Amino acid sequence: MNTLMVCPGCGAKNRVPAEKQHLAPKCGRCGLSLVGAPVSGLVNQLVDAQFHQRVEQSSMPVLLDFYSPTCGPCRMIAPVVDALAQEYAGRLLVFKLDTSSQQMTPARFQIRGVPTLMFFKDGKMVDQLVGAAPRSDIEQRINRLLS
Ligand SMILES: [Zn+2]
Repeated sequence: MNTLMVCPGCGAKNRVPAEKQHLAPKCGRCGLSLVGAPVSGLVNQLVDAQFHQRVEQSSMPVLLDFYSPTCGPCRMIAPVVDALAQEYAGRLLVFKLDTSSQQMTPARFQIRGVPTLMFFKDGKMVDQLVGAAPRSDIEQRINRLLS
């Protein structure tokens, strides 16, 4: 399976075959290392320190899943979020942030409960869904985000 790795430097989308991802791929446009770069098509784990670069400076729309490992509804929607990340590969970057270990980003967006899904476009939060929403609801929000 090819995956799209988004360059943390210039935002270029790099198509990297799965079998080559261990070979320390570099960005085809600017040459920066893509090791650890977010992949469009997968759910990428995010920590507070990466928020600015990965979300606010993303050239691609972003879905961010605020979750906690001990929360049942979060575990319920996790496979849905996984499937949607695959479905929208190349058009959307999907991250998840563990609110039990990361506090800065949840505090900044006044997250009151998990799961909370937030949608970002051009670095700005434009939409959010609180609670375990059905897949069709999440998909509708994504389509609006991408339109
Ligand atoms: Zn680059």
